[in-house]
Amino acid sequence: MSNPLRDLPSVTKLLAAPALVAARERHPHAAVTAAARSALDSARNKLASGESPAVGVEALAAEVVAALDAQALPALRPVINATGVVLHTNLGRSPLHEEAARAAYEAARGYLNLELDLATGKRASRQGNVRAGLRAITGAESATAVNNCAAATVIALRAIAVEHQEGIAGGAHGGFPLRNEVIVSRGQLVEIGGSFRIPEVMAVGGAILREVGTTNITRLSDYERAITPNTAALMRVHASNYRVRGYTKSVDLPQLVELGRKRGLPVIDDAGSGQAVDLTPFGLPGEPLVSASIAAGADLVLFSGDKLLGGPQCGILAGKADLVQKVEKDPLMRAFRLDKMTLAALEATLRLYRDPAEALRTVPTLRMLTTPLADLRRRCESFAEWLRAIPGITVGVREDESFVGGGSLPDVSVPTAVLAISAANMSETELAARLRTGTPAVVGRVQDERVLLDLRCVFERQEEELLEAVRLAVGRTE
Ligand SMILES: *Cc1c(COP(=O)(O)O)cnc(C)c1O
Repeated sequence: MSNPLRDLPSVTKLLAAPALVAARERHPHAAVTAAARSALDSARNKLASGESPAVGVEALAAEVVAALDAQALPALRPVINATGVVLHTNLGRSPLHEEAARAAYEAARGYLNLELDLATGKRASRQGNVRAGLRAITGAESATAVNNCAAATVIALRAIAVEHQEGIAGGAHGGFPLRNEVIVSRGQLVEIGGSFRIPEVMAVGGAILREVGTTNITRLSDYERAITPNTAALMRVHASNYRVRGYTKSVDLPQLVELGRKRGLPVIDDAGSGQAVDLTPFGLPGEPLVSASIAAGADLVLFSGDKLLGGPQCGILAGKADLVQKVEKDPLMRAFRLDKMTLAALEATLRLYRDPAEALRTVPTLRMLTTPLADLRRRCESFAEWLRAIPGITVGVREDESFVGGGSLPDVSVPTAVLAISAANMSETELAARLRTGTPAVVGRVQDERVLLDLRCVFERQEEELLEAVRLAVGRTE
């Protein structure tokens, strides 16, 4: 019997294969050699473990070319979001407005006055560039921004709860009360997803959690009784991703603020989704507006920039000027600060809110959330006509639901119209997988033996690409 290892070509011989000579036109020399070695290693290992891989030069060369082409594709690439979930965390949450995207692009490719006052030539705060816009949408005295809302929570708690320990740093505790306790209702000790758990985040911030009340009932007297000389703040966490229904009682923000005032304690409001304009006229629930939290007297309101605000990933802290200043002076600010691209995109997004009606029409997240059902149905009908021209496809249009998502309003849905497609000789999961792995990648939903494509989050500029992607997925023969 022949030794199959002997049948394997040498690296030199494999590299001389016409397919690999051609590949050197498109791929770096070193990458082609490395991929050829790797293919030979893998074949050798398979032979050693009793498998029978292809060992011919041509088959191996084809493998090498496939590997090289896959490597050349960026790992992060555009996806057509046909899930209908507007704030899809796995797909990058909010897409940016063109102007915000352009601002980030310009910031990325050149220099900018990030920390330079162009009028005086002196150093300036990088936060100063977004402060005015944040104040305008929240009505707060001051505001600042960090990497995300989780970071905003950590730094807010550190600045407020740990600050009181400074006087006793060095160890002279001797009965000195540590003002580092933060009181939160048991009904609000939530996990937002991606293991953002309020109790754990508080611990990272250095605060000691004082839980009050029960899962369904927390009264003002529960907070009152928990206040001790160690209390540093009262905190409310918005129940963004779940609801407690039935026999429930919670303390609303104005009541908490009143208690805080009486006892000289700041109130922190983790508002989460950061809604800046009222969406109730569009059938969405009355999420607390960030400006309402400030108006109700919250000392510090925290929210995400890439949820309902429709901006880049960041966490915003808005509220009393002295607290914002404390946050900005915290050493963690250096670790949590925003980069130039995010700051540029945030500033551009905030500028769109100077006219809230215009923001509703043009900020992609808001526009998608408020697209009327009739528009979506019309779009689906014409798209269905185009799709029906593809051989082997079955297309229907049906009513369904789109979700807000993003750990913001996951149980909040709005009526939508979807394309329900199936292809001959292929299961719905196979079709969905082909769409997902195509270029551009298309992510839809699988339901009732169909792939559902919701056009709510598909940009009009992507329609042709989507059509082509479906055509390729249905027609691909392997
Ligand atoms: C989403 C959310 C967070 C986390 O925000 P990130 O910006 O993802 O860090 C925190 N708190 C609440 C209430 C949220 O809804």
